[in-house]
Amino acid sequence: MTSTAHDHDNLAPPRIEEVSDGVFAYIQPDGGWCLNNTGFLVGSDSVVSVDASSTERRTRAYLEAIASVTSAPVRTLINTHSHLDHTNGNCFFGPTTIVAHHDCRAEMLNMPPMPPGVGPFPGVDWGNIEKAPPTLTFSDSVTMFVDDLRMEVRYVGTPAHTTNDVTVWIPERSVLFAGDLIFNGGTPFNLAGSISGALKVLDDLRALNPSVIVPGHGDVCGVGVIDGLVAYLNFVTETAKSAKAAGLSPLDAALQTDLGEFADLLDPERIVGNLHRAYAELDGAAPGAPIGMVAIQEMVQYNGGPLHCVA
Ligand SMILES: [Zn+2]
Repeated sequence: MTSTAHDHDNLAPPRIEEVSDGVFAYIQPDGGWCLNNTGFLVGSDSVVSVDASSTERRTRAYLEAIASVTSAPVRTLINTHSHLDHTNGNCFFGPTTIVAHHDCRAEMLNMPPMPPGVGPFPGVDWGNIEKAPPTLTFSDSVTMFVDDLRMEVRYVGTPAHTTNDVTVWIPERSVLFAGDLIFNGGTPFNLAGSISGALKVLDDLRALNPSVIVPGHGDVCGVGVIDGLVAYLNFVTETAKSAKAAGLSPLDAALQTDLGEFADLLDPERIVGNLHRAYAELDGAAPGAPIGMVAIQEMVQYNGGPLHCVA
């Protein structure tokens, strides 16, 4: 079941794209496991960063990329959600206010550290990571300014990719930093959140009609990318309904399912985690209710080995 369609081992280096005046995306190809995007807004005397990266090496390279654009310090760091690829590197930003949803902080404090050599990504050298949870948290939204440029940091209102997803919306520029609510070219992943919640949020993001979307993984895109994500999540929902009715476990359902048009998305083994979440929702579980490590272990099983992560 290992995907052979993608050459993960000969990736282009990360790159900066100025998506609007003074607003930069930092894209890490190919957007697979833990190769997350970040971004930064440059003001006259300070920088706001959207997310950190997964490893010490990748986060330090990102900070060097910022320094290649401006000598101003990063004074504020926003975490779009608690996942380690977006937050592990928080500790390398120095004295910085870290802004996120309340539940992002709670999740980070609850998360055990990922020791080297174990877990779903055993080959990754995370570096010298020290937990640095958000220091300024909110429940609904917070408005920030970079000089006169307004940024709305908004909780999406429901579990979706995780329990604590926030987006960064720059209305004057019609630019959206979407975090992992949007994967461009990768398989959506809602194990830690909600399939139905994600569908609702994607509707909301479509209605916002951003000109530019910086996704959590994959290339900068437009609002058209949302159709494919909705199609995938509807496919997961329908597959879960019929497989559950037939008495199949999520893993067996995944193994017996032809991914069809979605087979070429990166990290297709996420179907297992997504089916676990869809099954839980069919059983009436609350959105975002914890599912546990079994789903991760079964993704490894489906994949026929550790998840391919070159962070
Ligand atoms: Zn994530």
